[in-house]
Amino acid sequence: MNIWGDIFTSLKEALFPTRCLICGTFYDLGEHHDKDHCEGKFMDATVLMYSPNDIFQKLMNTFLCPACTAGFANIESPICPVCGIMFESREGEDHICGECILAPKRFRIARAVGVYDRTLMAVLHYFKYKGKIQLARPLGQLLFCAFTQNWKEKEIELIVPVPLHTKRLRKRGFNQAFLLIRNWALYAEMADIELDHLNIRRDILSRNRWTEPQTGLSRYRRMSNIKNVFNIKDSSKVIEKSVLLVDDVYTTGATADECAKTLLQSGAKHVDVLTLARAIR
Ligand SMILES: [Zn+2]
Ligand SMILES: [Zn+2]
Repeated sequence: MNIWGDIFTSLKEALFPTRCLICGTFYDLGEHHDKDHCEGKFMDATVLMYSPNDIFQKLMNTFLCPACTAGFANIESPICPVCGIMFESREGEDHICGECILAPKRFRIARAVGVYDRTLMAVLHYFKYKGKIQLARPLGQLLFCAFTQNWKEKEIELIVPVPLHTKRLRKRGFNQAFLLIRNWALYAEMADIELDHLNIRRDILSRNRWTEPQTGLSRYRRMSNIKNVFNIKDSSKVIEKSVLLVDDVYTTGATADECAKTLLQSGAKHVDVLTLARAIR
């Protein structure tokens, strides 16, 4: 960068210092500032080599101060290979959790990027309820990285977001799950990943009745609250397809399981689940 560029950058930082979205602290973008990311060049073919923690830090450094960034915890083994829950003990190998043995899931596997607490919980709150829609890009890229790291090429043919009821959609103005996957074709191109076979559709699954928010309900109430809520508009798009269901948070899995049931009843080959965050019991 030339001298005028340097002067401009210093002036800009002095006049408009970066303020952390979560704690409100002003911080220096300085060294950990990743210019390539800001220009949208972060997604390249090397992206698969990074750990989720590194990816989070790179993508979020223009939104969060270093201390808040450090509050992100990615999901790592040992996990349950079915529902993806991360075990408290950091020792040993992956094994099926008690809950998946007692109540087998209808989806094949569920995976998530990070633990739903502290930083990720706050970031999702700003994204969904405080109008910080610009977070859709880093969060969508983060989720895309998790997709490429957890699924083989061509393993998934159809991606569908968990739908909102039209009443909630109108109130919020967007479906957060769809915003996270909307630009995956673009990210795939940037990362030089073949995605042509993949169909991203928000018009396949819909909600046929209004439900109370699942937040605060017991596991049993969540299951009955969500039962038979979803339907498929056109089964011909689903038959014999390997489907990936996407949502922002996996809490008890009741919603994901109910969506999987609906998709399987319409002839889907199998249903997998990917969320940005995972609540740890
Ligand atoms: Zn902060
Ligand atoms: Zn499990």
